[in-house]
Amino acid sequence: DAWNFEVELASAPATTEARTAVLTKPGFGQSFTDHMVLASWTDELGWHDQKVTAYAPLKVSPAAAVLHYAQEIFEGLKAYRHEDGSVWAFRPDMNAARFSRSAQRLALPQVSQEDFIAALRALVTVDEAWVPPAGSGETSLYLRPYMIATEAALSVRPAREVLFGVIASPAGPYFDTGPKPVSIWLSDTSIRATPGGTGAAKCGGNYAASLAALAEATENGCNQVIYLDAVERRWIEESGSMNVFFVYADGRIATPELSGSILEGVTRDSVLDIAADLGHKVEERRISADEWRDGIRSGEITETFASGTAAVITPIGRVAWTGGDLTIGDHTVDDGVGPVTASIRAALLDVQYGRTPDPRGWLT
Ligand code: PMP
Repeated sequence: DAWNFEVELASAPATTEARTAVLTKPGFGQSFTDHMVLASWTDELGWHDQKVTAYAPLKVSPAAAVLHYAQEIFEGLKAYRHEDGSVWAFRPDMNAARFSRSAQRLALPQVSQEDFIAALRALVTVDEAWVPPAGSGETSLYLRPYMIATEAALSVRPAREVLFGVIASPAGPYFDTGPKPVSIWLSDTSIRATPGGTGAAKCGGNYAASLAALAEATENGCNQVIYLDAVERRWIEESGSMNVFFVYADGRIATPELSGSILEGVTRDSVLDIAADLGHKVEERRISADEWRDGIRSGEITETFASGTAAVITPIGRVAWTGGDLTIGDHTVDDGVGPVTASIRAALLDVQYGRTPDPRGWLT
């Protein structure tokens, strides 16, 4: 029963000039390719009508459950062009597995790993010209699979009609001139996720709920929020869109253990392996905000960074909270990007862009 995609080519695709203009300065998540994937599900028929079709607005009832009750999940991963022209997705099996867990949590139907990857392959095959060329820096084609409850019904229950889709967006380097440290707001009021809640699922509601805290961070001169656990308000969880790592003076690297309310990042998992390859002792354990602050003050923690698909590895150069503020690392050296952060970042990018062997078979 593997998915087969009917391909309906766009009648008015972008001109070569228009596409080249986008690929020259892609930005992030602003321009989309000529096509998209769609598949429909009903509780009677299961999955059907899988197709690659022209990118266009969706026709959705104003009573669709997703618009009222946020029954929705999504994923984010990238395809990279290698020097020989070939195009590779990074660990799509991990995204497929997370999509499946998110679907379970949001009472949405399952998509098999095989079908999920077939959908990505179908879209990238048709829109391959939208994958930025090799040698154009840290560019890629960002892939955004999603699933929404389309049934027009206002009762609160799992929808009986659902739409799966994939869209694709050329992505430029997150940092135009190399990675720059960001400032973090350590929120003592906002909670991202609770035990038994949806924090480990990639559902739109988590992101909607994070926006007010992000505004609070901005008001305090910060770029991102790092959230503490909901119960003790003591343990570091993650930021609104990235996992977080701490580098110790003795070479250890620690990241918060998966608590059930942290999103299990594909980059996080990859960093744990790469850091071990580079000779670091890696730890997944609870880390308190006090351990972080005390470690910065004493010099025991030398670097902090965040990991996620969009920006890969982002150095954290400053943490602020109500009544305090600390600078991490030496901003007079390498623009404040610590040596361990830089080496892990480079090792990960080398695998993604095919510049080193891929012994773990991370590329598809
Ligand atoms: N945490 C959250 C809340 C996220 O949205 C993301 C981005 N998907 C991550 C962590 C990082 O996950 P990944 O490395 O799979 O992009």
